[in-house]
Amino acid sequence: MPGWIGLSLLGIRAPRLTSVWQHGRMGAPAEREPMARELAPDVDGLRASLRGEVFLPGEPGFVDNVGGFNLLSPTSPELVVVVADEADVQTTVRWAVANGQTVHPQLTGHGAYRTLDHGILLKTQHLSRLAIDAAAATFTIGAGLRWIDVVPELHRHGLGAVTGSAKTVGAVGLLLGGGIGPLGRSLGMASDWIRSIRVVDGRGDVLVASPVENEDLFWALRGGKVGLGVVTEMTIAAPRMPHVYGGGLFYAAADIARVAHEWADWIEDVPESTNTSIAILRLPPEVPPPLGGAPVLHVRFAYVEVGLSGEELISAGEAALTRWRARAGTPILDTVGLLPSDRIAEIHAEPEGPLPVWEWGDFIDRIDHDLVDVLLLHSGGDCASPLVTVEVRMLGGAIARPGEHPDAVGGRSQPFSVLVLGVPDDAAAPWAVVEAAGHTIRDALVGYSGPEVNYNWANHPSAQTFRSRLWPAATARRLAEIRARRDPHGVFEHGN
Ligand SMILES: Cc1cc2nc3c(=O)[nH]c(=O)nc-3n(C[C@H](O)[C@H](O)[C@H](O)COP(=O)(O)OP(=O)(O)OC[C@H]3O[C@@H](n4cnc5c(N)ncnc54)[C@H](O)[C@@H]3O)c2cc1C
Repeated sequence: MPGWIGLSLLGIRAPRLTSVWQHGRMGAPAEREPMARELAPDVDGLRASLRGEVFLPGEPGFVDNVGGFNLLSPTSPELVVVVADEADVQTTVRWAVANGQTVHPQLTGHGAYRTLDHGILLKTQHLSRLAIDAAAATFTIGAGLRWIDVVPELHRHGLGAVTGSAKTVGAVGLLLGGGIGPLGRSLGMASDWIRSIRVVDGRGDVLVASPVENEDLFWALRGGKVGLGVVTEMTIAAPRMPHVYGGGLFYAAADIARVAHEWADWIEDVPESTNTSIAILRLPPEVPPPLGGAPVLHVRFAYVEVGLSGEELISAGEAALTRWRARAGTPILDTVGLLPSDRIAEIHAEPEGPLPVWEWGDFIDRIDHDLVDVLLLHSGGDCASPLVTVEVRMLGGAIARPGEHPDAVGGRSQPFSVLVLGVPDDAAAPWAVVEAAGHTIRDALVGYSGPEVNYNWANHPSAQTFRSRLWPAATARRLAEIRARRDPHGVFEHGN
């Protein structure tokens, strides 16, 4: 995985890692050869009515716009529309309705887990407006912005953002699913901070959804994720939070089992101000010591208390870590410190892509020592797993509480998430080997699966997961009714 950005704190250069992950072991991204298809009717008419661009398979620009985060999810729609503004979104949706096409909004492709072989891929990268109201502590983002585009600007005003763990994920894509990040136990779902949403519905009309306007859509768009429209802008509240206290503690292969069991005990009574997860990582040997070439246990930690000064944060955060440090012993690397809010992504140090990724995620209903043993059996320091990340995040706290306004976010009540990532490469870890290892750990954890899983963890959910696990039954029913009403022609596909 490229860009283990948190590691740059440690003197390990991210550019080198990026090149190792992107072009070394994996090889260069494969060239796609889109199949020539029959021209959809009146594509020239669509082209002429847009400020943005339209690409048919085979035209220059098509391949550049269908590439996304995951190189294993080839996207070959019938048409790509790169919208220049909101009016382009409306025109595209109306054209799709008139021509019996479907519309698939996309920014980064972080959520593209399956081949898309039909319809219109609607690319939002040019919807890049960012307006910050520092006095009100709110910001408005266009759908073309990733967290990395937003967070540094907020920080200049002393503001933070409730994001996911990876800085290159699209802000709107994450927020539509809820958004569980490194500060979630303290600050809740990212979507709890949304104040209003502009969206183009299935008729091509622009609507504003807020607690006082189109309340049904405001409820549905926070967690309902798909089938509701193309979001063009969101206005979001920002905590006045220039810093948190956090980072990562890395433990050597020989300590993984002991420290992972300690973590399961330690989290039993940590307060809501403590956010933590663990990941067994296998970084390639090209990564400089002490992290490359051998498994390590990465314990992520963030102490959050909005309103504290830097000094107060350091002292309260260190106090919260005292018991952990006493239990876990000395890490091989410790990056915990006062962390500016524009560097929160360093806590997890996620890959930036593009990469070939095998991924499986779920929400689990408990963590105990048996579960830790299962993780260790399949990815611990003693085994030769091809999986690069096996992660467990502690949820709960503010995530488990409903936000200020009711919403459709699924999975709030589940106490833990699990995520397994593999990065296949022909020489060291072929696809079949990675997939088999991933399935083995997935099957071993079946008994821990909770009743719900959040959409952002379900990847591209199966029809069964969509029907039965993403939302409680009443929420799913209400979402279905709103989708049918707001998208009467079924232009936005959902639910497989
Ligand atoms: C490395 C990595 C780390 C991640 N970390 C987290 C995390 O910490 N927490 C978390 O909650 N999730 C996380 N995710 C999941 C991520 O939030 C979702 O995959 C999210 O949908 C990605 O949004 P995107 O715009 O970047 O991706 P895209 O693939 O561009 O979009 C994904 C989907 O979002 C919807 N969408 C995007 N833009 C619009 C729009 N303008 N209007 C309507 N629908 C739209 C569409 O359904 C689209 O298919 C992670 C994913 C990856 C790959």
